[in-house]
Amino acid sequence: MNLENVTRQKQNKKILLALFLLIALCVLALMYVQARQIKRVDVESFKLGTLVRISAWGGSETQVASLIDGALQEVDRLEKLFSANIPDSEVSEINKNAGVLPVRVSGETYELASRSLYWARQTNGAFDPTIGPVVALWGIGTNHAKVPADEEIEKAISLLGYEKLRFSSGMEDDYALFLTQKGQRLDFGAIAKGQVADFAADALKRGGVRSALIDLGGNIVVFGEAPRGKMWKLGIQHPGKPRGEYFGVIAVADESVVTSGRYERFFESGGVRYHHIFDPATGRPSQSDLSSVTIVDKRSADADALSTALFVMGLRKAAEFLKQNPEINAILVSDEGEKSCVYITQNLAPRFSLSNKTMRFEVLE
Ligand code: AMP
Ligand code: MG
Repeated sequence: MNLENVTRQKQNKKILLALFLLIALCVLALMYVQARQIKRVDVESFKLGTLVRISAWGGSETQVASLIDGALQEVDRLEKLFSANIPDSEVSEINKNAGVLPVRVSGETYELASRSLYWARQTNGAFDPTIGPVVALWGIGTNHAKVPADEEIEKAISLLGYEKLRFSSGMEDDYALFLTQKGQRLDFGAIAKGQVADFAADALKRGGVRSALIDLGGNIVVFGEAPRGKMWKLGIQHPGKPRGEYFGVIAVADESVVTSGRYERFFESGGVRYHHIFDPATGRPSQSDLSSVTIVDKRSADADALSTALFVMGLRKAAEFLKQNPEINAILVSDEGEKSCVYITQNLAPRFSLSNKTMRFEVLE
């Protein structure tokens, strides 16, 4: 082999290496561009006894998917603190120690209890987080649902009372809760989903997600821009029609929309339907003349507590409450069968459009 051939071979090797590096660089660049492309990621999972759906975008597909995964882990973590149905949750520990001992709890449980007490006081007990004994007695949504005897209901009512819940907090992460009467039981079923949705939204925002819709079984939080246009358009379930049938659409941005309705959970006995929203004053399913209440609020926990409370109040008291609290946005549906009427607060009316034209529509004074 002469010197000229050796030099040519070396040059060819260099060209091949350069080509290989160029192709590798192109492949890496392509992968990077693809990863940067903003794609919507949708995840569904069964949690909190309901279907949880999260749609999010605002980063690479893999980033957003892993942030959604983180938010779902947050949902699991909070459920293990707040659920009265998980035997070793913090709430169950408080219930087991009712009338015995204060129980040390996390800041999250303490905050949820404080917010609950606030709304219990504001709504004059229509929302009552100590409703647990009544919920357990009726068992609605379980396979041992029954209509209890009057004496049993009386006994359960004697255990209610949010003012019997004691709070203590120390210097650093040192929180305790105490139900002072034996047999009392906390049940955060009317507020916890909202609080969990708020935490899940915060987790996504912290991670850099730009836009998301979080749906915890109809308890919805949205933030950022909607897929088409700036505002999100959310349908509101018709209380008397099959799931997915809406009576109207509300436009929202960076807000939560929560509905409480008699159609959500119930059982039938002797031809009577018994639903899951109780009147703490009677210990029975609320005889509300409303069939659903929707609240639009910045915080899902507040929307959740309020939708339950206003449902229990019924039309007249709820309208009065809304008059006294004009910052609250509500849509009430009266229970008058075919002639049912949609009542909406003034501030919400411009953002709402009624799609069911057989329903009457009134803006609250
Ligand atoms: P929601 O679907 O948000 O209206 O909440 C209903 C759930 O909250 C029920 O399944 C009970 O666990 C609990 N609950 C029922 N009635 C009340 C009430 N008056 N105050 C507080 N929680 C209630
Ligand atoms: Mg609620």
